Amino acid sequence: MKRKPRIVIALGGNALGNTLPEQMAAVKHTSRAIVDLMDEGYQVVISHGNGPQVGMINNAMAALSRENPSQPNTPLSVCVAMSQAYIGYDLQNALREELCRRRGKGQPHEDVVTMVTQIEVDPNDPAFQHPVKPIGHFMTEEQAMFAQREYGYLMEEFPGKGWRRVVASPLPGRIVEINAIRTLVDAGQVVIACGGGGIPVTRQELGHLKGASAVIDKDFCSCLLAEELDAQMLIILTAVEKVALHYGTPEEVWLDTLTPEQAEKYIAQGQFAPGSMLPKVQAAVAFAKSAPGRTALITSLECAREGILGRTGTRIRA
Ligand code: ADP
Ligand code: MG
Repeated sequence: MKRKPRIVIALGGNALGNTLPEQMAAVKHTSRAIVDLMDEGYQVVISHGNGPQVGMINNAMAALSRENPSQPNTPLSVCVAMSQAYIGYDLQNALREELCRRRGKGQPHEDVVTMVTQIEVDPNDPAFQHPVKPIGHFMTEEQAMFAQREYGYLMEEFPGKGWRRVVASPLPGRIVEINAIRTLVDAGQVVIACGGGGIPVTRQELGHLKGASAVIDKDFCSCLLAEELDAQMLIILTAVEKVALHYGTPEEVWLDTLTPEQAEKYIAQGQFAPGSMLPKVQAAVAFAKSAPGRTALITSLECAREGILGRTGTRIRA
């Protein structure tokens, strides 16, 4: 049987919400958009971000160790692992239900699975010397100084907004569980993997993987996953329908298609905000350049189906 075209879908913050009840509601809506793509004849593999969730878990675990000093503080790598399971749990059940609803009785629709995924990072990645990725909620200066002193967190002030913890965001190296993911995907399972950019680990002696205090960018990690699975398409679903030039100004222009060369020119001009649109465009360019025929699409969750049909979104293709 001919293989269905394969796509990796990277879900942004708006696909998951910020609190437990918000996430429970958001995943239903998100699952409809994902199953819409499956109904168009695509095999999907799903990855997602975890900014608010990993911050929430990190704060909850810090509160636990404040209350009970015999509980040491939880490493960030463990918080990322917890976020993968918590998000995967809600998302895989919402997907199962949506498949069940559309396929009807007697059809297989149980095949949704979340893979706890580790990503090897280079311990000498310069990103470890320059933590830039903010996680968790805003704090007062007093709270921030407490966290810095007690937990060794690096805190940064965001003028007018307060203080936030910043962590390193190294580039993803190798997906440790890639063979397991590929086996499941090849067998027709709907796989959720590389959540929150993957659990960052560094390889030690005797095959030991040591958790790193970092959060990998989910857009870069999704690009790597799409390359490894030989996907035809990487779809980055976010809060905007298209990528813009002069975003948020009167000269704003929404883009339909970009070659990697055009995108690189606009990146050099500083058209895309670091930490939000820039990593998406960079990941899209890397994917489009990685092999002939590969296309990246950046659009909103609501426009996913229209986007894959070529009616909207921004396509990056060589
Ligand atoms: P996600 O959670 O999906 O990663 P982000 O908030 O990090 O979403 O990034 C998407 C946001 O990037 C958009 O909502 C938009 O406000 C912002 N953005 C910055 N620059 C651009 C641009 N040039 N074109 C479109 N959106 C942009
Ligand atoms: Mg983001």
